[in-house]
Amino acid sequence: MLARRYGLWALIGVLGLVAVLPLPDFWITQLNYIGLYSLVGLGLVLLTGVAGLTSFGQAAFVGIGAYTTAWLTLNTGMSPWLTLFVGLAITGVSALIVAGITLRMSGHYLPLATIAWGLSLYYLMGNLDALGKYDGLLGIKGLTVLGWDVGQGRGFFVLSWSVVVLAAVAILHLLDSRAGRAMRSMRGGTQMAEAMGINTLRYKIIVFVIAALLASISGWLFAHFQHSVNPSPFGLKMGIEYLFMTVVGGVGHVWGAITGALLTKLLEDHLQVLLPQLIGTSGSYETIVFGIILVLTLKFLPNGLWSLVDRHMPKPQRAMDWAQALPLSTRTKPEQGELVLDVQAIRKTFGGLVAVNDISFQIKAGQIVGLIGPNGAGKSTTFNLITGLLSLTSGQVVFRGKTISGQRSREIASQGMSRTFQHVKMIPDMSVLENVALGAHLRGDKGVVSAMTRLNKDEERQLFKEAQTQLERIGMGAYLHEQAGNLAMGPQRLMEIARALCGDPALLLLDEPAAGLRHKEKQALAAVLRQLQGEGMSLLLVEHDMDLVMDVCDHLVVMEFGTLLTQGTPTEIQESPAVRAAYLGTEH
Ligand code: ADP
Ligand code: MG
Repeated sequence: MLARRYGLWALIGVLGLVAVLPLPDFWITQLNYIGLYSLVGLGLVLLTGVAGLTSFGQAAFVGIGAYTTAWLTLNTGMSPWLTLFVGLAITGVSALIVAGITLRMSGHYLPLATIAWGLSLYYLMGNLDALGKYDGLLGIKGLTVLGWDVGQGRGFFVLSWSVVVLAAVAILHLLDSRAGRAMRSMRGGTQMAEAMGINTLRYKIIVFVIAALLASISGWLFAHFQHSVNPSPFGLKMGIEYLFMTVVGGVGHVWGAITGALLTKLLEDHLQVLLPQLIGTSGSYETIVFGIILVLTLKFLPNGLWSLVDRHMPKPQRAMDWAQALPLSTRTKPEQGELVLDVQAIRKTFGGLVAVNDISFQIKAGQIVGLIGPNGAGKSTTFNLITGLLSLTSGQVVFRGKTISGQRSREIASQGMSRTFQHVKMIPDMSVLENVALGAHLRGDKGVVSAMTRLNKDEERQLFKEAQTQLERIGMGAYLHEQAGNLAMGPQRLMEIARALCGDPALLLLDEPAAGLRHKEKQALAAVLRQLQGEGMSLLLVEHDMDLVMDVCDHLVVMEFGTLLTQGTPTEIQESPAVRAAYLGTEH
């Protein structure tokens, strides 16, 4: 994200030139529209590109901003600078309601709901007498800043593009922050984010509201730029076009939104003149061309046109300015030997299959407990029941004296239980350091506004210092700035352990940490596990590598077909005829 700064200075330079060069007025007008579209596109970058949510209804939020200021300035004489905030308030409340209803549901409900929202608001605008029905409202005044008339030309260009630049900078700051990393962690599903203690529903709602507010500001500017409003620019067709522009430009990049708005508008103007001449009759042929462009872009450039440029941008390393940062506060840990985890007859059925059949065991502080058994024995399921990823069919889990059964995974994480996943879950396009900082999410509290205004710097330094410390602790100090997706399997697993350690856990659950590790790496892992144990950490380990298990574990729990075969010390387990039978398939 830091690399995008180059884009910012380039953009400001170009905008400055446009403002002073003697360009034709027509061009300035087009650029003004492009600025307004870009604002909506910036919201879609957050919504679709970052959080993975699709909305066809952004035009409706533009309409709310536009109609609010139009009606209020015409009917009450209120200052447009006040109506902006009224519009934002109405937009914010509507977005909260739409998001609150739809974001809980998964799959296609959100896109469908935004279509319904776009359609119904369009007909509402078109049918209300007070809003002038389909003719709309006319005679809206232009904006003035301290008595200076902004007008519809260069003045408006400077104002609207200043807003675009400010919004872009705010979003860049946001994406490079605790809250932004949380938003970026939701795209591939929410399990990992929730396990890090991130309230993903809350962040989805926040993203939805921010995107709506940006659209509303665009609408406010639009009304005073056009001096009139009517429903057609706020309908579903325009809602689809906003999404189209941003996806073609590059929905994963702040600059992709602006690239998309620019290219779509320029192309549209040319095609509207060219195509009817070529074909000989008039009609909206450009729509057909746009459809083809969208399909081709999705096929050949799924990250949009901006990705062609982005590829060649230098990627400076994050400045490591956190050496002096204060350490994050830590939780009180259990005393050595204290009962940390008490699993009481937990059970999970999937239809007719009893995947976990009344399993009970305990972990005391400072113990490494191994959960072993053949593939399909129910180890991962047991893990997911303890950490709250799956709900129990029956039984209880008590963690540090409190019953945690029935709680969500993020609530359990907040009490000091951290985990890794059998199949590594990470954000491939974030650096190792950023991925690991996600694990410390609950140890910070700075939100969206402090991120956008960069009032979060101290906390950011603390989080990154913690991430670096944990990475170095497990021998990953050389990989801090690597892109996580480029790591080999071994380092990926170690990165997950560092991320889990960032949560300052009292109990660490590792699901097959040695899978895919080389011999040397396994030895290093064993040393790390023993070191953690020496510091008083309790661990639950699912592992297939028997050398490692026998070497580091104090106590083993053996499962087979969902049931508890036996438990005991490594030596007892090695000598157990039942275990030999289970593993070797011989009768005892
Ligand atoms: P292990 O981690 O010991 O290899 P798992 O806990 O992954 O085993 O799986 C235990 C059993 O439960 C397997 O038979 C598996 O197919 C089944 N199982 C696991 N998750 C689900 C699920 N979500 N739905 C249905 N069956 C599942
Ligand atoms: Mg498993």
